[in-house]
Amino acid sequence: MAQINTTADGASAKPMVRIEGLRKSFGDLEVLRDVNLDIMPGEVVTIIGASGSGKSTLLRCINLLETPDAGHVWFQGSDLTADHVDVNKLREDIGMVFQGFNLFNNMDVLDNCTLAPVTLKKATKQEAEQTAMHHLESVGLADFADAAVAKLSGGQKQRVAIARALCMNPKIMLFDEPTSALDPEIVGEVLEAMRKLAAEGMTMVVVTHEMAFARTVSDRVVFMDKGVIAEQGAPAQIFGNPQHARTREFLKRYL
Ligand code: ADP
Ligand code: MG
Repeated sequence: MAQINTTADGASAKPMVRIEGLRKSFGDLEVLRDVNLDIMPGEVVTIIGASGSGKSTLLRCINLLETPDAGHVWFQGSDLTADHVDVNKLREDIGMVFQGFNLFNNMDVLDNCTLAPVTLKKATKQEAEQTAMHHLESVGLADFADAAVAKLSGGQKQRVAIARALCMNPKIMLFDEPTSALDPEIVGEVLEAMRKLAAEGMTMVVVTHEMAFARTVSDRVVFMDKGVIAEQGAPAQIFGNPQHARTREFLKRYL
């Protein structure tokens, strides 16, 4: 019997995130102007665009760090703009990695990773530590479990931030310029951890200025310009044959 919402190969055709008619202003400043975007399960979407174009605000509307003024954001079929949304539950399912790490600097690496699973998900300390060690291993930091966060390099901190987010077993990971605060020589180790995560099938939305990452890792590139999605498409199309003059102008800076 035919199933609704499945494709020929049986994969779910339902978007994990659906953004429709999204608008957001700060005072008189219209930051998002009718943004429409679907993120499919397993998809890696990068968002590029000039500073101030609304990339962070768009990302932050997905986990309600910003409240949309109009339009809808659905996550796994639930409308996040409805009144009854449990924001804390939502954020358990949506991992976020920020430019500035946002780690607890007075704790060691392992405690950073186990705090939320133990307090929010009621995991036992032992379960949480086992999960944390698994994710620290995958970002290459198993040997640093007992290290003080304050002693780590920026690249190590950001890899801890990724591992910490993964400890909540999120359905999707949002990255807001995760390498922008890092020295050039350590950007690669963070991108490598993200590349690995993408290869494992994680659904990811990544705001970045790392065009090589966008080109080689993402399934789709979204170019934002002054609060709208000016153009989106496969990396080969966006980088090889951009249709919009603004996209061409923006990408020129990275040649
Ligand atoms: P991007 O991430 O593309 O650089 P942002 O989404 O951070 O863009 O910001 C878009 C615009 O909105 C910028 O002009 C920024 O200064 C402004 N903005 C962002 N957050 C706030 C805020 N909380 N209050 C006021 N203005 C904001
Ligand atoms: Mg930003």
